This record gives sequence, C-alpha cells and structure tokens, in this order.
Amino acid sequence: MREFELIARYFAPLATHLAAKGLKDDAAFLTPPPGRELVLTKDMIAEGVHFLPTDPPATIGAKLLRVNLSDLAAKGAVPLGCLLGLGLTTAIDDNWIAAFACGLGEAIATFNCPLLGGDTISGLDRITLSLTAIGHVAPGTALLRDGAHCGDFLMVSGDIGGAALGLAQLRSADGLKDPAAVLRYQLPEPRLALGQAMTGIAHAACDCSDGLLADAHHLAKASGLQVIIEADAVPLAPGIEDRLSALTAGDDYELILAIPPARVSEALTLSERLGVRLTRIGRFGQGQGLVLTTAEGTVVTPANLGYQHG
Ligand code: ADP
Ligand code: MG
Repeated sequence: MREFELIARYFAPLATHLAAKGLKDDAAFLTPPPGRELVLTKDMIAEGVHFLPTDPPATIGAKLLRVNLSDLAAKGAVPLGCLLGLGLTTAIDDNWIAAFACGLGEAIATFNCPLLGGDTISGLDRITLSLTAIGHVAPGTALLRDGAHCGDFLMVSGDIGGAALGLAQLRSADGLKDPAAVLRYQLPEPRLALGQAMTGIAHAACDCSDGLLADAHHLAKASGLQVIIEADAVPLAPGIEDRLSALTAGDDYELILAIPPARVSEALTLSERLGVRLTRIGRFGQGQGLVLTTAEGTVVTPANLGYQHG
C-alpha cells in the first residue's frame, strides 16, 4: 500500500484533534491551552531491543504511546497530542500495520492523546518506532529531576520487577507465563493522575524505565545529593524471587518521587484516592551516589545500577 493510502486508512482516524487537519497537510497547528506550558518528550523503540519480534503489533503500538506518557506523568503533565515516526521493514504487511494502528488507537483513546502527525519510512532491517508526546502543565509547576532536598523521602508508586519477570517469561521456552507479568511488560501503566496530583507536593520526580536503582540515582545526581534506599522496603511485584535483580531491572514505568516529610501524609491520601500504591523506600541525604541498605544493615553498592543506554 502506498504511504498516503496507509496514512489515510490507518492513521487519519487517530488524528481527531482539529490541529492535525486530518493528516492532510504538511504539518499540524497546535494552540496550547490558555495559560499552560508545553512539555515535550520522545522515546524510540526498536525491534529486538525494546520489543520482541514476536510481540503482538497491537501491544507494540500501545506500549509506544504508554512509555512516552510515562515521561509526561513523571513531569506532572496532562497529555495533549503525539507525533509518530514509523520505520518499517519490507517484511511488514498491511495486517501488521492495521493491528499496530489499532493498539496505538486504543491507547490514544484511553489517555486522550490524539495523533497530530508523523513520518513514515520503509526498507529498514528492523522495525524502528518513535513517538513524540506533547503535554501541558501550569507554568513553573512541572516536576523536575533536580529539585530534591536533603531529608526528602524517596517514594515509589506501584510495585517493581513485574515487567522484567514478564519479559523473562516471554523469552523462556518452557511455556509458563503469568499473564499479569506479561501485561506489565507489554502494557505499562503511565501514572498520569498520580504525577498530576504530585505537582506542588513532590520536590522532584522521574519515571522508572531503566531500573529502580538507576533512576533513583538519576534523581540524586541531578539534585546534587546522595540517595539511601532500603532494599527491603521496596514493594515487589508478585512472583519475584530475587529482590536485588528486581531493583536493577527496567521497564516498570512507575514514578519515583522526592517528597518532603511534611507532605507525605497528604501524598498518601491523594494516592490512595487514586487507587495507586505509594511506598516510602528511602531518603535523600548530603553527599553523592547511592547507598543500598538491607535488614542486616549491610551496605551494598551494586556495580551495575540498571539498564545503560548503548
Ligand atoms: P512529507 O512529504 O513532508 O514527509 P508526508 O507526505 O509524509 O510528509 O506526510 C503527510 C501528512 O501525513 C503529514 O501531516 C504527516 O504529519 C502525516 N504523517 C505521515 N506519516 C505519518 C505517520 N506515520 N503517522 C501519523 N501521521 C503521519
Ligand atoms: Mg509534506
């Protein structure tokens, strides 16, 4: 199918915002909501690196939007729209694109983040996808990485390690799969409502995509502080056996927050109202780096904190 037919059939229906002009122009024309500041983010994913060649195209489409919305969530932003970069291989057929667009469309509808435009190329060796998500916040209220204060509590939403467990199960040949873990890997939940609720309360935030320890360290480093994490306090997803490896595994897309002790009860009330677990797992202190403590009081500093971008 020719590129313009493909866009008209599969992607124009996802471009419901007037700004997109039905994907019939060269560009989109977006007026930010009055008095709001834009927040922009892009994530790329490639076959064999961020998703498996056997992953269903519908979940690939949905995950592409969801991981980007996780970045908006971590900044406290409300989704506004997105742009899609579609890099296809010659092996891709119409069925793949139809299913991909269907999964992306479902996520677009769920999170109210319409398609505003994009670009399409083909003939690549592996499927390579990119998405730019645009959100908005009240000016100056976005949650940043560099705002943590000495004495702030380190808190995490949800639980950790489920996505890595799901990925390991999908990769293993024995056929034993826990549907909840597979779902955690294929359809991560962007914590948009929690992120928005934490603006004005949390001093700093980021999402947990590279691994809990690595991402907590990002917050500490950006804020010029040390982060002390109590390994045993970290809530783990059901079925996790190796605590330490769960702390360095990626893809969970939970929020990691620096919250001043005086605001913790307020934060807990809000998260409870939203039905999202929020757990204190450590604190920020003077110094630098990451200290991991266990119940025995042992201090472990794992050499590899998480996924390193190559
Ligand atoms: P160009 O020739 O400048 O690359 P195109 O003719 O490819 O532009 O794009 C025409 C319209 O289709 C534009 O509005 C563009 O944003 C949109 N578009 C192209 N590819 C995609 C895609 N994969 N998803 C969404 N919109 C797309
Ligand atoms: Mg053009």
